[in-house]
Amino acid sequence: MRVRLWGTRGSVAAPGADTARYGGNTSCVEVRGPHGTVLVLDAGTGIRPLGRALGRGVRRVDVVLTHLHMDHIQGLGFFAPLYDPDVETHLWGPASTTLNLRGRLVRYLSPPLFPVHLRDLRRLVLHDLPVGEFDAGEFRIVADRVCHPGFTVGYRIAAGGATLAYLSDHEPALGVPCFPVREDWTSGYGLARDVDLLIHDAQYSRAEYADHVGWGHSSLDHALAFAALTRAKHLVTFHHDPAHDDDDIDRLTAAATAAVRVPCAVTAGAEGAVFELGSR
Ligand SMILES: [Zn+2]
Ligand SMILES: [Zn+2]
Repeated sequence: MRVRLWGTRGSVAAPGADTARYGGNTSCVEVRGPHGTVLVLDAGTGIRPLGRALGRGVRRVDVVLTHLHMDHIQGLGFFAPLYDPDVETHLWGPASTTLNLRGRLVRYLSPPLFPVHLRDLRRLVLHDLPVGEFDAGEFRIVADRVCHPGFTVGYRIAAGGATLAYLSDHEPALGVPCFPVREDWTSGYGLARDVDLLIHDAQYSRAEYADHVGWGHSSLDHALAFAALTRAKHLVTFHHDPAHDDDDIDRLTAAATAAVRVPCAVTAGAEGAVFELGSR
């Protein structure tokens, strides 16, 4: 499978000259299967340029949401395939205890917050996300709840013998006196175990995390420790804090990887980066 990052920023878009290398768009990742299935992880502002780049010939796109915080759905209304009669978009996302996915999304995709009504997007098919396993085209997907405020899931995605874990918003260290402890008590462990590529929340420095315990995110140190615990082969840090410019991300990544011996490759997630997994 082929993985491309279209938005790596957390919380709110942060465009500008000093974030140009890692990118200012919020969470969005494109995954292409060996036979061409198009899967999109989250609909942050990065989904807008992805929609423009999809190209002709694509007839179906599956978009899976981790949760409905604004940085993960803000680009949805600007996803060009939603207005293309030749493309069917299937959107998978968590319901709440009182509202289905449609009821939750309509709060954003309706006036006054957005000029187009959700009901007018005729080629959009909504699915309340099943926690557990399901298929989207050639992808076998496992969705499981993870530690983050509200109903939030992480994903494990398999196709063509390759595996990817996507844990964009994740605080597995919450409530753990010395992270990590046991594998079976660690949020997200089953999703990320032995994956080829782990895309994981790394929003804060160690010092910043101390002031943001319970906000739902990880420090770089936590992301590295989680990657080591799960034996992921390659960690891509993600959901960069909007206050961190490119030089900050370079400096924090270098410091964190120098401080601990990490048994896997580590790459700071940059908009436009492409990862090839398994054989195509
Ligand atoms: Zn987020
Ligand atoms: Zn969130």
